[in-house]
Amino acid sequence: MLAPIPSYDALRDDLARVLPSARIVTAPLRRLAYGTDASFYRLVPQVVVTVDDEDELRAVLAACRTHHAPLTFRAAGTSLSGQAISDSVLVLLGDGWRGAVVDAKSETIRLQPAVVGAVANRLLAPYGRKIGPDPASIDSAMIGGIAANNASGMCCGTRQNSYYTLVGMRIMLADGAVLDTEDAASVAAFKHSHAELLLGLAQLSQRTRRDATLADRIRHKYRMKNTTGYGLNALVDFDDPIEILSHLMVGSEGTLGFISAITYRTVPDHAHKAAALLLFDALGTACRAVSALATLPVEAVELMDRAALACVEHKPGMPAALRSLGVDGAALLVETRASDAALLAQQVAAITAGLAGIATAVPIEFSTDADTIAKFWKVRKGTFPSVGAMRATGSTVIIEDVAFPVARLADATLDLQQLLHTHGYREAIIFGHALEGNLHFVFTQDFSTEAEVQRYAALMDAVATLVVGKYDGALKAEHGTGRNMAPFVELEWGRDGLLLMQEIKRLFDPLNLLNPGVIISDDERAHLRHLKPLPPADPLVDKCIECGFCEPKCPSARLTFTPRQRITAFREIARIEATGASAQAERSEYAWLGIDTCAGCGLCATACPVEIDTGKLIKSLRGERAGPLAHRVATVVADNYGPVTAAVRLGLRGADLLHGALGTRAMTALTGTARSVSGGRIPRWSPSMPRAASVSARATTAGEPLVYFPSCAARSMGPARGDDSESLPTVTDRVLQRAGFAPVYPAGMASLCCGQPFESKGLLDAANGKSAELADALHAASDGGRLQVVFDTSSCAYRMKRFVGERRLPLRILDISEALRDLVLPRLTLTPVAGPTAVHAICSMRKMGLQDVLVDVARACCTHVTVPDAVGCCGWAGDKGFNTPELNAHALRDLRSALPAGCTSGVSTSRTCEIGLSDHAGVNYRSIVYLVDEASNHPR
Ligand SMILES: Cc1cc2nc3c(=O)[nH]c(=O)nc-3n(C[C@H](O)[C@H](O)[C@H](O)COP(=O)(O)OP(=O)(O)OC[C@H]3O[C@@H](n4cnc5c(N)ncnc54)[C@H](O)[C@@H]3O)c2cc1C
Ligand code: SF4
Ligand code: SF4
Repeated sequence: MLAPIPSYDALRDDLARVLPSARIVTAPLRRLAYGTDASFYRLVPQVVVTVDDEDELRAVLAACRTHHAPLTFRAAGTSLSGQAISDSVLVLLGDGWRGAVVDAKSETIRLQPAVVGAVANRLLAPYGRKIGPDPASIDSAMIGGIAANNASGMCCGTRQNSYYTLVGMRIMLADGAVLDTEDAASVAAFKHSHAELLLGLAQLSQRTRRDATLADRIRHKYRMKNTTGYGLNALVDFDDPIEILSHLMVGSEGTLGFISAITYRTVPDHAHKAAALLLFDALGTACRAVSALATLPVEAVELMDRAALACVEHKPGMPAALRSLGVDGAALLVETRASDAALLAQQVAAITAGLAGIATAVPIEFSTDADTIAKFWKVRKGTFPSVGAMRATGSTVIIEDVAFPVARLADATLDLQQLLHTHGYREAIIFGHALEGNLHFVFTQDFSTEAEVQRYAALMDAVATLVVGKYDGALKAEHGTGRNMAPFVELEWGRDGLLLMQEIKRLFDPLNLLNPGVIISDDERAHLRHLKPLPPADPLVDKCIECGFCEPKCPSARLTFTPRQRITAFREIARIEATGASAQAERSEYAWLGIDTCAGCGLCATACPVEIDTGKLIKSLRGERAGPLAHRVATVVADNYGPVTAAVRLGLRGADLLHGALGTRAMTALTGTARSVSGGRIPRWSPSMPRAASVSARATTAGEPLVYFPSCAARSMGPARGDDSESLPTVTDRVLQRAGFAPVYPAGMASLCCGQPFESKGLLDAANGKSAELADALHAASDGGRLQVVFDTSSCAYRMKRFVGERRLPLRILDISEALRDLVLPRLTLTPVAGPTAVHAICSMRKMGLQDVLVDVARACCTHVTVPDAVGCCGWAGDKGFNTPELNAHALRDLRSALPAGCTSGVSTSRTCEIGLSDHAGVNYRSIVYLVDEASNHPR
């Protein structure tokens, strides 16, 4: 066991010798924010380090050993049981762990631990394959966490989880030794260096097999999903100690070693799907249907109790039948998949016939329509967030995860419902993966008083008695033991099982260096300690459940803060200030981490189960910080927008003249020096900077009238030096006319703007004033809304669509991508230009759901189109590319390497984003309109 740590200062000094200082975090607010995970536990690490490869990790392990400092590995931090937090050293995975290799036959995939599960599946999708584990968190959870939690979900059952689909693993143990089970030389060396460990595992395995009662119990328990304690099935399933070792790593929650790579056997991902939402008048009938379905060709069977359905039944798009279901009712969402349509039809027939004797509240109707299937899944997936969204501010939402033998599912579910009511959890809902007997129950919990903590303690004791005592089920089926179930491991597994687990831990990690207190704990109140406070901070973010689903969307993730970290840190500031103390130090730390480096893109909201747009919080903080003077200046700028854009053009012209005279290298050096001397106040200049736009539209009345609004950015910023094209408004006007339209321009265009530049700075009065002015001008130009209005810049289209939508103004606004696909392309003869061309959908376009439209237009105009998967928000954020260029550089750090060989151009729909894209891709990005112009500009 570890002795108490002498000094974290000494540890930090040692770490500084092996890691760059930027990757060692000691600042308090950052440690707190980086330390948070999705559980309701809070530990604040003393040090947070980011490691990029095995050598760095080995050095960190050595330093921690020397200083007796425990450490916890962190992947995406979506764990729910408190296993991804630390009050000592938290080890984050840097960019270096994102490698992925699909084998030639796509039967296996080797993945490093920081690959997001959904990214692995996108790599496999072209082959009709996927990885087996399918947690609901797969869009954010990473392979390290998926394997170390033995996570699973709706379809994978017990046969496609990490344990069963494991082909090989590369592991680093607490002593720094590496074992690669797929490398014969590594295995041989390990057998030599770690003979004692392997012998110990072999002996444990033999001892377990000799104890027939224990061995049978282990086999019985793993017929269900089970993640309570270590995966003891490894001891009875394998003879080879290497196999035992690698399979014990699955579900070990960072307590036995580090998973440096894992090879999975892939599983088919059939394209043909059918689903039905079956409604029952009684839960017992639904559970009888589950037993019948167990022998039928189904992929997923999701059970929802009446309370779960009640949470979502009034939401838009929900099936009307839900509302007429009685108080004892329940639903099953059944999905079946097949490799072809004929087989699918046979399966649907077999399932329907198999359920013939079971009464449903409405007739069984399977659908193969993708929208209908999505609607059914919306019912199921909406249940958990609904509880999260409805909870009282300050309380937390808890999702528990138990498994019962399927044969006893009906009684167990009714007992569970009763138990929750007895303990006063009347809002609790139950849903789950019925085929495995895996039920989640979700309830809200206040931890701010001792009485409430005791109520929770009593519930957990009662649940443990019910699940283990009455049904011999599993206390954790998917989410891992963590700190939450560590006190109950012995109850579930008995003394023998616990002793086995303690011996396993001692064999792997004799110093108890790795994630102590997780899985193995002698503290019977461990599940009641370190409860996370969730103080009210701002209604914009109070519903946040800190799940982390937003993190992969955020351009500042790994640079400064993610949306979750922004909220966690802001809550801490609110907590401190609520006590009457000053949070000045935290507020100044927050200024850069939370406020300045948020792109305000709102992409976080697209992944958030409770629809929080953290960008809105940040913009409102920017507005507060700006103070009254800035708001007054904004109004003056808004009122004089024509001269201001003229001045921008003048500035760009001056900069371009200087660029021409000095050349790129000298200009870069000069402006870089000026920026650094000014303390970052002079905006960054780059070779992709636009020249001043010069607009020359050919007035016409010949053709079908349509309003065209060139954005202020398009009116002021032309192509970069070296790009001879005309300015965007000129090209757009030409393309529209070529397609037979007569563009109409709003009066007073020089001073018009949608207000977006003001909104992103939190200057809402000025922003809304400009939007209203533009709406009036467009109303007049479009003859009271009769003509459609085309915007050439997606961020402006998005803002004005929302503005006119909220006010129900009669304006029909089209983003340029929609206008090109629906109005322009059908009227043009296209000769696709040679590719590859890269396509970048900006954030507003993603939020409008138009990225596929942009890709369609590009595909119509180019022989080879590429959409780099690794790039989301570019981080330019209106003008942050000039003022906070680190954000842009960080967000686009993977772009260049993601482009295929020979790619010399890119298209997008925002002139400012295109500057950063060009800089960081090394190829010129322009509006999609240029591509359409080129493809259609040929003699007929
Ligand atoms: C809303 C919500 C829904 C969820 N739904 C599901 C579900 O359907 N099924 C399910 O199983 N889980 C679910 N989870 C829980 C969680 O998302 C999964 O278990 C997920 O796989 C955890 O992955 P992660 O990348 O977030 O890991 P983390 O939380 O970062 O880490 C998980 C554990 O793995 C350890 N670890 C991380 N990387 C390594 C490594 N390289 N080597 C060794 N140990 C490592 C950590 O120390 C920790 O103990 C859900 C969570 C939320 C918030
Ligand atoms: S903002 Fe939403 S997605 Fe992000 S952590 Fe909070 S609840 Fe989860
Ligand atoms: S608005 Fe964009 S940059 Fe800001 S927190 Fe959300 S995803 Fe991150």
